[in-house]
Amino acid sequence: MMGRSHTLIGLATVTALAAANFWPLSPAVLAATAIGSLAPDIDHPQSTLGRPLFFVSYPMNATIGHRTGTHSFLALAFCTLAVLIAEAAGCANIGYGFLVGYVAHIGADLLTIEGCALLYPWDRARYAFWPAVQTGSLGEAVILLPILGLVLGIAYWLNPSFFDAARQLRLHVPFLFHVPVT
Ligand SMILES: [Zn+2]
Repeated sequence: MMGRSHTLIGLATVTALAAANFWPLSPAVLAATAIGSLAPDIDHPQSTLGRPLFFVSYPMNATIGHRTGTHSFLALAFCTLAVLIAEAAGCANIGYGFLVGYVAHIGADLLTIEGCALLYPWDRARYAFWPAVQTGSLGEAVILLPILGLVLGIAYWLNPSFFDAARQLRLHVPFLFHVPVT
């Protein structure tokens, strides 16, 4: 999937988990989730993170290829280790946000034709599940909406008052900028 789809799915998922009272949302958690949502594609030189970090993405792409090691259970094990380190360092929520984004990325890529080499490096077979859309195609946009609707729908079902709070926040924000001009 494209970077923007991954970011949207990651942010929707972390919002749903915050609504379910797993942890509080903060700008730092949202930023960590967005980075986690984009991180697996560091193995592709044309990806959102791969372009600025070309000195990482080019060698990775040349050696292990795209959607292999960074889209595997092994990568998730390393991410879990990173979360444990973040926990020990006192920034557990940021670690959870990153992990949620990372897991959501792999989950979303499993719904595309290209799939993910989940068992890399032991097995290079690609796994993909229905509806297996083409990355960047209209199909991706078509499945994105129900995914976001489902995730945010579950969040609303779990905790409608969370969204009341968000709505009130949005209603009050314009007043911050309501400075009379004379
Ligand atoms: Zn990917």
